[in-house]
Amino acid sequence: MQIAQETALKDAIAAPDRAETDLAAALSIYNMPFMDLLHRAHTVHRAHFDPNRIQLSQLLSIKTGGCPEDCAYCGQSARNGAQLPASKLMEVERVLAEARKAKAAGATRYCMGAAWREPKDRDLPVLEAMIRGVRDLGLESCMTLGMLSTEQARRLSAAGLDYYNHNIDTSEAFYPEVIGSRTFGDRIETLARVREAGIKVCSGGILGMGEAIADRVAMLLTLAQLPEPPDSVPINLLMPQAGTPLAKAEPVDPIALVRLIALGRILMPRSVLRLSAGRTAMSDELQAMCFFAGANSIFMGDKLLTAGNPEADHDRALFDRLGLRPEAVDAHAGHDDAGPV
Ligand code: SF4
Repeated sequence: MQIAQETALKDAIAAPDRAETDLAAALSIYNMPFMDLLHRAHTVHRAHFDPNRIQLSQLLSIKTGGCPEDCAYCGQSARNGAQLPASKLMEVERVLAEARKAKAAGATRYCMGAAWREPKDRDLPVLEAMIRGVRDLGLESCMTLGMLSTEQARRLSAAGLDYYNHNIDTSEAFYPEVIGSRTFGDRIETLARVREAGIKVCSGGILGMGEAIADRVAMLLTLAQLPEPPDSVPINLLMPQAGTPLAKAEPVDPIALVRLIALGRILMPRSVLRLSAGRTAMSDELQAMCFFAGANSIFMGDKLLTAGNPEADHDRALFDRLGLRPEAVDAHAGHDDAGPV
């Protein structure tokens, strides 16, 4: 009996399960000498994208604050001390007026976010009208509304929703340290419903919540190993919000950010990687390095839901200095994927 146990133990050590093997392999890529990692990631990037193009999205909070969820990083949670006042769902015309401005400023995708656990069915007609209106402007539409039922995903898809954002935030192991009001599995289920409904998936995470490097790498692996990787992967740096449990979180090492972007590009060669929240804390040089490593999308506009974002003029000047060309609006009208080249 004892021999059998020892043999089983030896086998387990000799043949770690697939998840461990994959994580070890991904970590070894992450830890490559920096120059080798950048070269490899940029080579993959060039094979699938025009490296001198950047996709511009703009984000609007269509319902702010008062969220019943307990995400430790979020100033919109009613459970956190930040106590951002709850607003009502915005009227369709106000949303479309903002979308017109975003298009005029060069955005190709318009993302609408609501601080909900999940939408209520009574809100669906308003959300559907927003989607139709944004698409009529020739913009891609994206929403982030929390968890979705199968029927809600189907209705949003029928209204023409191009993308649905639902971040997995971090690794499955670290997730309970940050969020207790829903599970990692809940997130994955909504992503499956979104994909099943024919909507493109946007899902990424947040760095700087106290997670280990292995958690960040595991997060990317989870995304890369979905039945189909997300079309769009936002990488956020935590912007500590006063009053939240993560208000005093340490900033992320910039080199670690570049390494993670590079790994994301290698693991998901065809996904658009977006530098999302946290760009106000990044130098121009750091952003340029992230673009070289494989990031090819940003949020434009001076606000991200409730957090600050660089001024549009500053972004335009940076693109000029780098010779980066924003993607044309026309390339993104409709459901056809004009992303990878
Ligand atoms: S991140 Fe979203 S779901 Fe979580 S508390 Fe904030 S608004 Fe609610």
